[in-house]
Amino acid sequence: MPYDSNNVFARILRGEIPCNKVYENDFALAFHDLHPQAPVHVLVIPKGAYTDHKNFSSNASDAEIAGFERAIGKVAEITGAAAGGYRLISNCGSNAGQEVPHYHVHVLGGHTLGPMLARK
Ligand code: AMP
Repeated sequence: MPYDSNNVFARILRGEIPCNKVYENDFALAFHDLHPQAPVHVLVIPKGAYTDHKNFSSNASDAEIAGFERAIGKVAEITGAAAGGYRLISNCGSNAGQEVPHYHVHVLGGHTLGPMLARK
């Protein structure tokens, strides 16, 4: 899947759409999810053009991967989620229901999150 440079997160990175920023470093931007599903629900996105986890883990530089991973840790601390525990989710592709085709990790916390997956 080629990268769509008009996806909503690419537009946030270019400053064309506002976001409620939580944290930023050289390689990642973190902002509150528009439709939070927990008291803490923050999205962490790489600044580079990567479609999903598969694309990022295969092609990003070590510095990008390290910067991104450290940003997730910072977000967990800044939001207070780290104190009680938190969950990271990254939907990759159609089986996972990925909606926005720019790699992102959801940081969820702030209360008990329940089972990892809905039971079928
Ligand atoms: P996913 O299904 O993993 O691709 O998740 C996409 C997430 O992006 C959803 O939780 C949406 O609520 C969130 N989202 C979509 N547009 C925006 C936006 N403009 N600002 C913040 N979050 C957004």
